[in-house]
Amino acid sequence: MYTVTKKFSFCAAHRLPQLLSNHKCSKVHGHNYDLIVTLYSEKLDKDDFVIDFGELKQLQKWINKNFDHAILVYEKDQILSKIVDQFPEVFKVKRLKFVPTSENLAKYFAEFIYGKYCNDIPLSAVKVELYESKNNSASYIYSR
Ligand SMILES: [Zn+2]
Repeated sequence: MYTVTKKFSFCAAHRLPQLLSNHKCSKVHGHNYDLIVTLYSEKLDKDDFVIDFGELKQLQKWINKNFDHAILVYEKDQILSKIVDQFPEVFKVKRLKFVPTSENLAKYFAEFIYGKYCNDIPLSAVKVELYESKNNSASYIYSR
C-alpha cells in the first residue's frame, strides 16, 4: 500500500456544549489545529504518484475558506448560535451537524477528502489526524 501525507493548518474557536459548565471545554476557546492527511492507494498514477502534492493544495484553500479564523458551532448549541447570530460582523461561523470534538472533526475531514478525491484516484482509505495542540490529537480512518 502506498501513502502520501500532507499537513494543513487552521485556527478556529469552538466549545463543547455537551459538557457540564464546570468543564473548561464547555467555554469558548481556540486551537491552532494541525490536520495531517494521509491518502492510501494500492496503485500509482501515470506519473508514479498516489497524487500530485500540487493537487492537494486546493484542500488548504477549502480549509482556509471554511474553517480558518472561524467559530465552529454545533447547530443544536442554542446559546452559541444565538450569540453568533446576533453579531454577524464579529464571527465567521462554521455550523456543524455534530459537536466539534477533534474526533468528530477528524471523521468529517476524512469523509470529505475521500469523497473529493475518490473519483480521480483509486483511493483505498483516507486517514486524518487532527492535532488540537502539540500533544493531543484524534484520528479517523475512512475506507470504502
Ligand atoms: Zn477545544
